This record gives sequence, C-alpha cells and structure tokens, in this order.
Amino acid sequence: MSIENMDELINHLKSQGFVFQGSEIYGGLANSWDYGPLGVEIKSKLKSLWWKYFVKKNEFNVGLDSSIILNDNVWKSSGHIGNFNDPLIDCKNCKARYRADKLIEENLPNIVISGCTLEQLKAIILENKINCPKCGKLDYTDIRKFELMFKTYQGVIADDSSVVHLRPETAQGIFINFKNVQRTTRKKIPFGIGQMGKSFRNEITPGNFIFRTREFEQMELEFFFNPNDSKDWFEYWLNKVIIFLNEEINLDSKKYHIRHHEREELSHYSKKTVDIEFDFPFGRGELWGISHRGDFDLKAHQNGSKQNLMYLDTDTNEKYLPNVIEPSVGVERLLLAIFSQSYVEELLDDGTKRIVFKLPKKLAPYQIAIIPLQKQQNDKAYELFNELLTDFDAVYDITGNIGKRYRRQDAIGTLYCITIDFDSEADKKVTVRERDTMQQERILISELKNYLEQKLK
Ligand code: ATP
Repeated sequence: MSIENMDELINHLKSQGFVFQGSEIYGGLANSWDYGPLGVEIKSKLKSLWWKYFVKKNEFNVGLDSSIILNDNVWKSSGHIGNFNDPLIDCKNCKARYRADKLIEENLPNIVISGCTLEQLKAIILENKINCPKCGKLDYTDIRKFELMFKTYQGVIADDSSVVHLRPETAQGIFINFKNVQRTTRKKIPFGIGQMGKSFRNEITPGNFIFRTREFEQMELEFFFNPNDSKDWFEYWLNKVIIFLNEEINLDSKKYHIRHHEREELSHYSKKTVDIEFDFPFGRGELWGISHRGDFDLKAHQNGSKQNLMYLDTDTNEKYLPNVIEPSVGVERLLLAIFSQSYVEELLDDGTKRIVFKLPKKLAPYQIAIIPLQKQQNDKAYELFNELLTDFDAVYDITGNIGKRYRRQDAIGTLYCITIDFDSEADKKVTVRERDTMQQERILISELKNYLEQKLK
C-alpha cells in the first residue's frame, strides 16, 4: 500500500529524523521545516545529482553561485517589483485568507484566468458561488495585490534608501552575470548556466507540508541560444528533464504528467511553458516548470543597467540577445514527490506490517547498515563498518533484536543490511539482505566491496 494520507507520511519523516517542525521547541513557526540527519543527506544527494546531470557533466553548461540579496534595481528591471504579487482575498465571516486564483483553479479546474483583472476574478468567485472552504459563506473582501517578495534593510539605517529584497528566484542572479560568465569561460552560444540555492516568497497560502513554503531551494538552468537556431532547444531540455526524472531519481512515470500551458495561460515573458505535475497525496501539483523566456530577461537588464548584454558571434559577426530556455524546479517539491512515492506499507506472510521506504538507489541516506548479531561480534563488525565507510554511505546499528534492526533500516530506506554472525569468524562470510525483496545471500567478506559496488551501480 502506498501513501494517500499526508499526515502518516509527515509523522514518518519526523519520527525517523528526515524532517522536523521548524522552531519546534518554541511552538514552531508556521510552515517552516528543518531537515534532520537523514533529510540533509537525501537533500544533498538530490542536489548533487541535479548538479552533476545539468551542470558538471553536461557538454554545454557551467555553474554559478550568486547572492541572495541583489541590487534592488535588478528587481525593478526584471519586473518583480510591482508585478510579483498574488491576488489576496479574505472571507469577511471567518477571516480565512486565500489566493483568489488558486481558489478558482481548485473549484473550476477548466477555467483559464490568466490576464483577468482583480475585479473579474472576484466576479468569477461570486457568479460560480465558490463559498469559503472553511466556513461555507459567500462573503468576501475585494481582491487586492499582495507583494510576494520579502523586504528587509541593508546597512545600519533602516529607511527607504536601504530597502533590499530577498530573491524570489535564483534566475535573475544568472541573467545579470551572463556577460561575466561568457567572458571568463569564453563559452560560445549555445550554452547554459546552472544555479541552485535558497529563494524566498511570502506566500499567502503556504502549506501541504514542504510543497509550498516561504523559504525553499531552487535548482535552475538558464540555457542561452541563438533565436535563429533551427534546433528545438525547448524539446531538448524537456527531454533532458524527463530522462533525469526517470533514470537519475527513478520517479514513477505513472505519477507525473506533462501539461502544456495554453496560450492565454502563459506568463507575459513566456513564449512556451510546460509544467511537469505530480500526483502528490493531496492532489496534483506543479513539480518542474520548463519555460521559453525569449530574450525578455536580458533585454530588461540591458535596458535597466544601460550595459550592452548583446552576444557577439565572432565567427559570423552576428550580434544578438540570446533567447533562453529555463527548466526550474524546487528541491523540496522534488523531495516530497520522492518521499510520497517511496513510502510503502507491506503486510508480511506472518501477518505483521512492515514500513519500507523504497527510496531510489542514488538517494537513500544509507546504502548499507552493518549489524553484528551478538555482542561478541561487535569488534569485528565495527572494524568492517569503518573499512566500508570509506567507499559507502554506511551506518552501524547495534540496538534491538535483529528483526527490529531490519525494520528500522527498512523504514529509513537503507538498501542493504550486512549481518555478521556466529559463523562469520569460521567461513569469513556475512549475510547481505536486500531492502525491497528481503532476500538474503551469504557473501565472502573479501568479495563484499565488489559485490556492493556492482549492486549499487
Ligand atoms: P506555483 O504556481 O506552485 O506557485 P510557480 O509557477 O510560481 O509555482 P515558479 O516561479 O515557476 O513557480 O518556480 C519554479 C519552481 O520552484 C516550481 O516549479 C516549484 O518546484 C518551486 N517553487 C516555487 N514556489 C515554491 C514554494 N513556495 N515552495 C516550494 N517550492 C516552490
């Protein structure tokens, strides 16, 4: 049985040390989450897989790590200041607060509302009698724009001249460094710049656990190409994303769906957008967005900064502003998709229940657990653990009976349990148990490293 109930998953992740409530000992901070010893491992493995696939091992791309706080003119030019807001509506009766667009989308999934004015959105809500989901009344305030960027001050004096914003996306840091990167790497178009890091959005309705939070991490690629290039770079990157999902992180292809945005739904800067959506336990939601941004961003920064951001092709002497394809994904959303597809409850032949976290091979926090069956084997087992730690992500587990230890490792997704028992001294073998099948094999200790390397490939 896989997970349909979000609370069960959250409890599991909390109790096993993947994700904790943020600021818990002070009563928590709404919708903030901390990643525990296992959460930080899987998160860092996920990020490094993305980095390897989209940056390090990709023939076209290079990486960047730009600041979270940028000159505020960046946000003026990009259009975020003034335009990066959501439509906020309150229920006058129970004071519940909603994003008007999401309220409509959830109740009328087939309606296209992009481009609607705030007045039109309210009219849709009233005409279609979308009552307050909390109290059931149809008595709303007018809709107003709610600025999503977090504002703060830089320097000792907090006044209008020192206002800065936390970035709501990592992408703009890439656009403003386009020339620096191109000059220093001598890259020729087409090439891409990848970046990962924290972004901040003062979301009106954060929730669904780590799906929508106010502080989150993004992994974004901006891929620059000649607008006259006949190659379909959009399809190329969409395809790469799908290969990454299927082959790198083994996302269940039955659970994700490719949705092309209708023309009316496109953002003002986008020529084409595809969302990859995932069937989360709470319903379908956006996982990864792939967008053709034209030359919108470079043009905006060229105008705003008065710097020449044109690319000169030294072979043809052609001068132009490159077009951009942007695949953009949130680390935590991807994690939630992986967590929810991996949590499985199995009924065993003896009538007992086993929770097994079938995390993808490349993401499980521990690849192996070393388990001495009895105290007498502790020293030998610890020695083996230390040896294997050099090459594998390993944990040493000595508490509880063997059944309990297997269950514990199953629940955190450990791929193989290696048990040292009475016979190990004599036959120089250990028992290796596989997580998903629970099948056991006796393997020579001298062969163990090779055996595991083959299995974990
Ligand atoms: P949504 O419609 O869900 O608010 P969006 O279309 O505004 O998302 P983008 O601006 O395209 O999202 O951001 C790119 C990616 O960043 C999203 O596909 C998602 O994976 C992630 N992301 C965006 N906002 C959040 C958030 N508040 N919390 C977690 N991840 C987010």
